[in-house]
Parts: sequence; C-alpha cells; structure tokens
Amino acid sequence: MEYAYSYIAGRRYQRDGLALAPVVNPADGETIGQVEMIDATGLDEALAAAADGFETWRKTSPYERARIMQDAVTLLRERKEAIGRLMTLEQGKPLAEAIGEVATAADNTEWMAQEATRAYGRLLSPRTFDVMQVVKREPIGPVASFCPWNFPALTPARKIAGALAAGCSVILKPSEETPFTAREIVQAFIDAGVPAGVLNLVYGQASDVSAHLIASPVVRKISFTGSTRVGKELLALAAQGVKRATMELGGHAPVIVFDDVDPVAAARQAVAAKFRNAGQVCTSPTRFYVQRGVYRDFVAAFVDAARGLRVGNGLEPGVQMGPLANRRRQDAVQSLVDDAVACGAKLECGGQRPQGPGFFYPPTVLSDVPETARIMSEEPFGPIAPMAPFDAPDEALARANALPYGLAAYVLTRSLARASAAADALQAGMVAVNHYTVSTPASPFGGVKESGYGSEGGIEGLDAYLVTKSVTQRVAGADLLPG
Ligand code: NAD
Repeated sequence: MEYAYSYIAGRRYQRDGLALAPVVNPADGETIGQVEMIDATGLDEALAAAADGFETWRKTSPYERARIMQDAVTLLRERKEAIGRLMTLEQGKPLAEAIGEVATAADNTEWMAQEATRAYGRLLSPRTFDVMQVVKREPIGPVASFCPWNFPALTPARKIAGALAAGCSVILKPSEETPFTAREIVQAFIDAGVPAGVLNLVYGQASDVSAHLIASPVVRKISFTGSTRVGKELLALAAQGVKRATMELGGHAPVIVFDDVDPVAAARQAVAAKFRNAGQVCTSPTRFYVQRGVYRDFVAAFVDAARGLRVGNGLEPGVQMGPLANRRRQDAVQSLVDDAVACGAKLECGGQRPQGPGFFYPPTVLSDVPETARIMSEEPFGPIAPMAPFDAPDEALARANALPYGLAAYVLTRSLARASAAADALQAGMVAVNHYTVSTPASPFGGVKESGYGSEGGIEGLDAYLVTKSVTQRVAGADLLPG
C-alpha cells in the first residue's frame, strides 16, 4: 500500500484523526493506497512555513537556487522509472508515457533553473543627472498551486520550477486522485536541498483547501490547472485579495485539415496525438474539421488506425492507451457519445464502455457530427474524435473560433499561405502547424478566452512569478558633498 501525507516546513504534518481518502488504480478499480487529508490547523502551519520559507528563498542567490534545482533535475532523471510506475498505477497512462512525462518534468525544471539567473531589471535614463532610476524584478511572494490528475508529474514540476526560479515559496496541492507522483516530485526537490518551508505539500478536500489558502494574506499568487468551472471559482476568491493568478483551464482544440495534405498520413499522425493519455489532455485535438475533398479518406484512415490501438493496463508491454483516470470520465464520455449519435452523428468505431473492471473506454470516432451535438462545444477529455467536413476555409475558421475556449489549435496543410492565414486567424494561445507538439520547456504554455490567462514555461513562465518595482534614488550630487 502506498501512502501520501502533507509535508510542511520540512517534515510530515501529523495529527490524530485526520481523514483518509482511498487512491484507486483505474486499470482495475482496486485501492492501491491512501492519502491523508489535511485540516485547517495544518493549512495554517503550511501558510506560516511558506511565509518563513519565502524570507529564506528570496534572499538565496539565483545561482544557488539554480544549483539546487539542477540537483533536483538529476534526481528526477535517476528516479524516472520508479516515479513513472507509480504514475501508471494511480493514473492509468501507459508506462512509457508516464516515464516520458517525468523526463519532461525534469527538462522543464532544468530550463527554468537556467532562467533563474536571467530575471533582469532595467536602468532608466533619468530626467536629471543626480537621480538613478532602476526597475527591479522581485519574487511576488508565497504561491498556492493547484494541480489536476491528468499530468501528475509535469504540472506540479512546472509550477514548482517557475516559482522557485523566481524566488517564491510554494504550497502545492496536487490532485488527491494521483497523490503519489506529486509526492515523489516534491521529494526530489527536498532531497536536492530546497530549504524547509520553501516547498510545502498539502492534500485535502479541494474546495476547503483552496478557500483557506487563497483567503490568507500570506498567499500572493495562485496558479491553477484544471477545469474552467473551477478556475472561475478560484478567480472569484483571488479577486477578494487582488491576487495575481495563472489559470490554465479547459480547451477544445480544433484541427483544420486542408485538402492539400495526404489524408492517410495526416490521419495516422492525428491518431497518435488524439489518444495520448486517453485524450485526457487539455491541448488534445478534439474537433476535426476536414476539407471535403479529403474528408472520407481521412475518416477511413483515422478509424483504421484507431481500431489498431492496443488498449489495456498501462503496465503491460505494448499497451498504447490505458483506462480513463476515473469513473466520472467514463460516465461523461459515454454521455457525450450517446448525445452525438442522438443528434445524427455516425459512430465509426468504439462508443460503448466495455464490461469488466477498470475505467476503460475504447478509441471512438464520430463522423458527420453536427455543431448542435454537445461534444462540439463541451470539452470531451476522453478518447473521442468527432469529425465534420467543411468547404471554404473561412467556414472552418469560424467554427474553430466559435467556442469560448482558446487553448490549442492545429492546422494541417502544405500551403504556407494557408498555414500563415490560419495561424493568424485562430483564437488560441498555442497554434501548431503540421504537428501536435505545442508544449516545450522554452515555449509559453497557456490560453486565451475562457481557457485562462498567463503562461507556464518559457520566459513568460518565470515572469509570472515576478513583480515590478521602480526605484528612483537621488544620488549624492555636488551640493550634498562635504566641503
Ligand atoms: P473538476 O472540475 O471537479 O476538477 C478539475 C480539477 O480541479 C481536479 O484536479 C480537482 O482536484 C481540482 N479542483 C476541483 N475543485 C477545486 C477547488 N475548489 N480548488 C482547487 N482545486 C479544485 O473535474 P474533474 O472531474 O476532476 O475533471 C473534469 C474536467 O476538468 C475535464 O472535463 C476537463 O475539462 C477539466 N480538466 C482540465 C485539466 C487541464 O489540464 N486543463 C486537467 C484536469 C481536468
């Protein structure tokens, strides 16, 4: 049995009578461990620790911060197989994907460690000769970070790395459904020498924890990855204290496939992207608008490749797609598929949850999906690919931009003119042309519209944890010199 508990000021938070929540393996529904849920007293201790930790860390030189973070990177790389295995057990994704995610968490941390020393300010040209004007960039203060269950290593690592590089302390609340991976990520930073109080870990009842932490004057910034619904609730809480927020929320990424591409090659490439992490990815390609000339061939090739995917327990060799992360997703996905079929969509493959243990759902393709089907406006967050034909490019762009979401968008074309025009017109924080990798350590990851604001990663991801201070100082002029 695995066990997770809150970790505050460098030690385990312990009190009699704390509630326990089970952690379930989505591949078989069995309980694999427990997580101890923190209480209000514990949260107050975490806040006090983060306040102390901030005083220590903001005075630690960026070079020393970077050194400690780099040591954490080494540990994450050494431990990636063990952490990946835990992730597959609690989240379900195939082991190779899980190990790859830990490696990516290390890469992001490394990039941000290097960036720690580059939080430059500015020296202004003063209006009078005896004044020095400086613009300083300073860490914003203790940060409360909330993470979901779909990327249990990468999301915590990104939030920790940006904050620590800038000189902030952190209270991290991972998902209680995937607590063990986050425990290991935090452990790597602690083992690398992050001082007590700088990085605190809490598990608890989500709405109680967020309300308590965000209301505290200690917390100066919040960072949340999750649904738009919860993001709006947290923003309302943050507004009470005029607190800065980075919000990485839901998406519903359109894929515009123009008729100048090879539909078979394009479909095979799209299948690999679509079913990664069983579609539980905020940037997952989720609405396929395919130009009529290649539509039928694209659908046929996509269905063929989707049918060929090996679905099973992510620990088994050769498995390409694991179960969904929880029962809620299984129910939500089935309901979206049933609604689309009722609206007139054609079910090309999948579409029925299997009997037996675990939260599995087959790769599912729906064609000729009308815009009125819920799946065309609600984030699917599962292994469903809805498709519809289009004729004129303007029509596809209008449909792509019609939702309140604006996270990722994809374009497939051989034409530079079409690619540039589409990238320009798409209302999204991230656009990828002819491939699906929108996330790298150097690129700003974030959305527009109701997909949130602010970025993680890239120089923007460091900037998110800094505030600006303008200092103007009259230096000793001739009139102030003695004699
Ligand atoms: P949910 O909306 O209840 O929760 C989403 C996440 O937010 C979970 O990790 C949860 O632990 C956390 N959360 C919930 N209430 C919170 C609160 N008051 N304070 C802090 N954290 C809180 O839904 P769910 O069933 O867990 O996930 C379903 C939907 O969430 C998906 O359809 C998807 O739209 C969205 N989601 C998005 C991402 C992302 O990467 N942007 C990740 C996970 C889930």
